[in-house]
Amino acid sequence: MRPTVLDPLFAPVSTLPGVGPKIAKILSGLVASHPEREASVADLLFHLPHSLIDRRHKPGIAYSENGDIVTLDITVGNHQAAPRNSKAPYKITGYDDTGEITFVFFHPRRDWLEKMFPVGARRIVSGKVEWFNERPQMVHPDYVVPPEEADSLPTIEPIYPLTAGLASKTLQKALTAALAKVPTLPEWLDAAHQRQNHWPDFAESLQTLHRPQEKQDLNPEAPAYQRLAYDELLASQLALALVRAKMRQLGGISRAPEGLLQRTVIEALPFKLTESQSRSIGEINEDLAKPLRMLRLLQGDVGSGKTVVALASLAQVIETGAQGALMAPTEILARQHFASMSSLCEKAGIRLALMTGKDSAKLRRETQEKLLAGEIDLVVGTHALFQGSVEFRDLGLVVVDEQHRFGVHQRLALSSKGRGVDVLVMTATPIPRTLVLTSFGDMEVSRLTDKPAGRKPITTVSASLDRLEEIIGRVGNAIHSGQKVYWICPLVEESEKIDLAAVEDRHRVLEHALGQPVSLVHGRMTADEKDAGMQAFKSGATRVLVATTVIEVGVDVPDATIIVIEHAERFGLAQLHQLRGRVGRGDKPSTCVLLFKGPLGETASARLNIMRQTNDGFLIAEEDLKLRGGGEILGTRQSGMPGFRIANAEAHADLMEAARDDARLILEKDPDLRTERGSALRCLLYLFGRDEAIGLLRAG
Ligand code: ADP
Ligand code: MG
Repeated sequence: MRPTVLDPLFAPVSTLPGVGPKIAKILSGLVASHPEREASVADLLFHLPHSLIDRRHKPGIAYSENGDIVTLDITVGNHQAAPRNSKAPYKITGYDDTGEITFVFFHPRRDWLEKMFPVGARRIVSGKVEWFNERPQMVHPDYVVPPEEADSLPTIEPIYPLTAGLASKTLQKALTAALAKVPTLPEWLDAAHQRQNHWPDFAESLQTLHRPQEKQDLNPEAPAYQRLAYDELLASQLALALVRAKMRQLGGISRAPEGLLQRTVIEALPFKLTESQSRSIGEINEDLAKPLRMLRLLQGDVGSGKTVVALASLAQVIETGAQGALMAPTEILARQHFASMSSLCEKAGIRLALMTGKDSAKLRRETQEKLLAGEIDLVVGTHALFQGSVEFRDLGLVVVDEQHRFGVHQRLALSSKGRGVDVLVMTATPIPRTLVLTSFGDMEVSRLTDKPAGRKPITTVSASLDRLEEIIGRVGNAIHSGQKVYWICPLVEESEKIDLAAVEDRHRVLEHALGQPVSLVHGRMTADEKDAGMQAFKSGATRVLVATTVIEVGVDVPDATIIVIEHAERFGLAQLHQLRGRVGRGDKPSTCVLLFKGPLGETASARLNIMRQTNDGFLIAEEDLKLRGGGEILGTRQSGMPGFRIANAEAHADLMEAARDDARLILEKDPDLRTERGSALRCLLYLFGRDEAIGLLRAG
């Protein structure tokens, strides 16, 4: 049960004064920790300002610099109304001892302006100064008050990340109300540790960050910020430590068969394993043989052949009579894995099934019955595999492909579907050590460092969209010489409709220009439609596939040799690299064309340069980290670390290590969180949404 002292923080934001259903919805979109739930007061409080406006800055008109936010004490000069029906703005002049400034208003409400700026009166005006033709002006000042009300001006205003439809003043009002609700909570930090760092308590830290007095208060290194970041990290490390302890306590199962099935699978492959594939399979076999649960991460750049390693591992477990599950992040990928494993499994006598969210109720029931009866050895699927109604007779190994789309909790849900379930997580993202720690705790790592032999390099070029016709011409030549081409269009959620239209439009243009059918796959299609599109392309019935980024991860059509990425400037490096990895999988040289719409910003042009210069995923990830900061490496939107709202990879890496050690120590001394500090720590777990871990504690 959640401690009642937390209730005020878990109230929905709509209970705050001034937050109606509409604002609640917008706020939830911005800050909610659960996408399908309304944001709580705590969610709102964890939405921190990134900077502040200091209205104490009063340099005088002449000394206000371009772009500065200043507060001026002026006398109103004259009003210059625009002629009727003209679009020209309304202008009001003001002066002080140092000079003169013009206040500019578009779509003016004249009577209001006359009331606010009586000619000859003194006014305190605050806003952003811009110099234009060597004269200062202020467009739509933020505040205008008579001198006797100068105190009503906020001296310092925190600036928050906003979203469409949310005014800064609305958010600030909601936050003021939220701050008033913060209760006094029991302290969960170790007293000595807290003292040593000069960290304020939880409530005071929130207060400091939402009511900053100096820029320094918002520095990630400042005490209040560090305190909250540490709280968040400690909650996650404690949750992970609880999961680990639980897993250890449940114990694993030693799975050490002779390895016949694994050998059959490997021998049935049309190629030889790379050295690092063999090594990884060896490492996994060793883990499986131990009477402990395996929790291993398999890292390998796109195209390095992770799927084969997965299948070999699954075969090893299946030989012991247990079942295996392979989870993919998308339906297309699940189907592809299913298709590519079918013949191998058949040869090896592994009974394979597919389960996705799009299955008919009847098929689904059948598959579930067979899983429960043990008539299926290996099931490939999507999130559908997590559902409560899915039961296994004896699940032994779960492989999660392209992990960053799955949460820790989802993995836990799956591994709780069997006895001592081993877990293998596969990712193409070279995750830096600190990030591995945040997402998985201490996880073993295997790496695929070499590419399958005989791979030809991918040449990457960039071209402006102005050259579209020329590029289409080249694509035409390529398909006439028997090549296959991916043509990728971006799909950005905010403007999904427009982008969808753009994809369909591009599809039409290409069919017309190439004079032959072209496949189309995008996220709005049904599974069958997508499948048909992919199949036509795979089989060669079509030679061009126009797709949105639904194909981003893992799709495998080895004889595709060209990928055109339209609006490459809109993609992040990691994503571009993933996409490029769709080609260069066969024995022919491949090309990646980055089509951009100019003019390119600095970062976008840096990204395209890096893409042209290297094919090395690790190098690209490093550059990505430099260009974008730690969080986005895993494709999450927010800055900071994935899954974290306050802590961020660069500023708080040390805290992460400290939190891990702290969590270990806590559980050594108080494994069920029963001491006074233990019960405070339970509050902490709830606060940061890690309370599922509490279910793992022994009751009582
Ligand atoms: P990823 O690591 O990106 O998931 P895949 O597992 O999809 O890569 O493998 C990419 C392609 O390489 C597939 O067509 C696969 O059959 C092939 N492949 C995997 N291992 C080897 C190997 N050792 N030699 C040659 N081709 C291989
Ligand atoms: Mg893959």
